[in-house]
Amino acid sequence: MGVELSKAFEALENSLTDKRSDESEELNPNSTRTPRNGSLPESWTIEDSENRYRIEGWGQPYFSINAAGHVTVSPKGDRGGSLDLFELVKALRERNLALPLLIRFSDILEHRIERLNACFAKGIARYNYAGGYRGVFPVKCNQQRHLIEDLVRFGKPYQFGLEAGSKPELMIALALLDTPGSLLICNGYKDREYIETAMLAQRLGQTPVIVLEQIEEVELVVEASRSLGIEPFLGVRAKLSTKGVGRWGTSSGDRAKFGLTIPEIIQVVDRLRAADMLGSLQLLHYHIGSQISNISVIKDAIREASKIYVELAQLGANMKYLDVGGGLGVDYDGSQTNFHASKNYNLQNYANDIVAEVKEACDERRVPVPTLVSESGRAIASHQSVLIFDVLSTSEVPTDPPAPLQEEEHLIIRNLWETYNNIRVDNYQQAFYDATQFKEEALSRFNFGYLRITERARAEKLYWACCKKILDIARQLDYVPDDLEDLEKIMASIYYVNMSVFQSAPDSWAIDQLFPIMPIHRLDEESTQRGILADLTCDSDGKIDQFIDLRDVKSVLELHTFKPGEPYYLGLFLGGAYQEILGNLHNLFGDSNAVHISLTPKGYQIEHVVKGDTMTEVLSYVQYDAEDLVERIRQRSEQALLEKRITIQESQRLLQNYERSLSRYTYLSW
Ligand SMILES: *Cc1c(COP(=O)(O)O)cnc(C)c1O
Repeated sequence: MGVELSKAFEALENSLTDKRSDESEELNPNSTRTPRNGSLPESWTIEDSENRYRIEGWGQPYFSINAAGHVTVSPKGDRGGSLDLFELVKALRERNLALPLLIRFSDILEHRIERLNACFAKGIARYNYAGGYRGVFPVKCNQQRHLIEDLVRFGKPYQFGLEAGSKPELMIALALLDTPGSLLICNGYKDREYIETAMLAQRLGQTPVIVLEQIEEVELVVEASRSLGIEPFLGVRAKLSTKGVGRWGTSSGDRAKFGLTIPEIIQVVDRLRAADMLGSLQLLHYHIGSQISNISVIKDAIREASKIYVELAQLGANMKYLDVGGGLGVDYDGSQTNFHASKNYNLQNYANDIVAEVKEACDERRVPVPTLVSESGRAIASHQSVLIFDVLSTSEVPTDPPAPLQEEEHLIIRNLWETYNNIRVDNYQQAFYDATQFKEEALSRFNFGYLRITERARAEKLYWACCKKILDIARQLDYVPDDLEDLEKIMASIYYVNMSVFQSAPDSWAIDQLFPIMPIHRLDEESTQRGILADLTCDSDGKIDQFIDLRDVKSVLELHTFKPGEPYYLGLFLGGAYQEILGNLHNLFGDSNAVHISLTPKGYQIEHVVKGDTMTEVLSYVQYDAEDLVERIRQRSEQALLEKRITIQESQRLLQNYERSLSRYTYLSW
């Protein structure tokens, strides 16, 4: 898909903004908090924006806000060097890269791999664990070539490997993984070809571990091993009884799609022993689902798996590896809780618990400890990419103060007017009830023909004015009564954004996954509006109306007043795992433009540009040939010319527009 212009651009010598300078005395955001003449509210600060969008919670150590009110990216974490995201987007736009734009920070990827490995190293040292850690990246999480190439390169010092869950992913892993000593975990459904290919890869110096997930695979493996004369590395995937929780909770348990039950594992052991291949069985694998929010679930699973591991070793299998699968969570809402968009543990807790549990189980039965393997995808790939998109326009509920009451206005209107004038802190709940009643009455009278359309308009405007006044009161209160919770939703503005949810954040649509979304500039200014996001598709599901919050979720996002003609850029963060490949072509909005950015001592460098789909490309996915389409339009305009329905100038203009569009990006541009 898409044309790649590798290294097309030379390094941009943008000067680095030192993160610390943002916190220096003069620029201290707190110092701008100058209360003016007592009665005025304190002016908005960057700190207020930090709290509002919870950027520290989910963004640390990569994302923060600088004194200019722009989001900054520190791709190397706390090791210094940061980029102003807004300035970066401006620079990329000047290079003709249109929005929506996916920016990948390869340094973040490197930092994630380092951190995961460092945490396991620390846990191993802390518990005097006699084994090592050798992680693998599950390719399904993000198969993009540049990303996998980076992963392999950054993972070299740690012998980081890859995990394939299908034949095409195996093709990727076999060709790209060239780290001596790293593991290539072969999961998923397997046929003979898959198994043979994996076995033969041993001859290339790789360590492919064929993980038996279905009982039928044993026979295929035994046969392939005999005919090729290769002793394979084998693993078994156990169906744990430990239940995952949440969205992917059904990945474990007796009815899970993959894995072998305990009786089946025993059957495999017996079969391998009979074939004199029990020495090949070296790895125990399990996967209890993705985004495990609760550390206690992780502990239960590793406890059960450790016991199975020890038993397998004592049954005579040549056990060397314990592969804990994925599940390591990402704190999307920054709440550090066991909410589904969060997790109540950190990387270090995760590593420590795994190391400690395995050690204990092995020591108890005097079995040598295994090399630990994890297949952490989400935790490695989520942070590295940011999707930037722009707001095209907004639609607001009209809330101007209503025109004064005229004489002889309809009773309903007078009632609404009176309600409006009498809204106070001590009666706002009753006022909301009254206003709603009057508005409904107005509607029914209109339907019976007793109210003119201009009167209905007046009544609706008054109703919105009441709601606005009530909302202003409710927002000042610590506690908002339940019946008023919907008011924010009713009053929310719609921000029309230049992207497709189906293409760029499919899990937001499909499984209500939450991603942090926020403006990347104007953060020194209060975001006074409350809005939901509506995308470009003609699908009413093409919207985002659930946002991260400290408690639960919120149904509106605080946004700035949109000023037509001025850019207003939003960022969707932590979407680097799964979203790209799950994205679909709904309404034929194609892949977005993507760039790979890496930090250099003097600024940053655009490593790769992967152009998004053109219209010609997306049309070809559904079997349209661009030339043929142009030809059809040409013939129709010839016909129209003959019949004098179009002028020659008009027909030329139409054809030019049509042809030009075909080579263009599928999103809106100006
Ligand atoms: C999807 C998957 C993973 C990755 O899980 P994350 O939660 O993203 O780390 C790992 N292993 C297997 C077998 C998987 O199917």
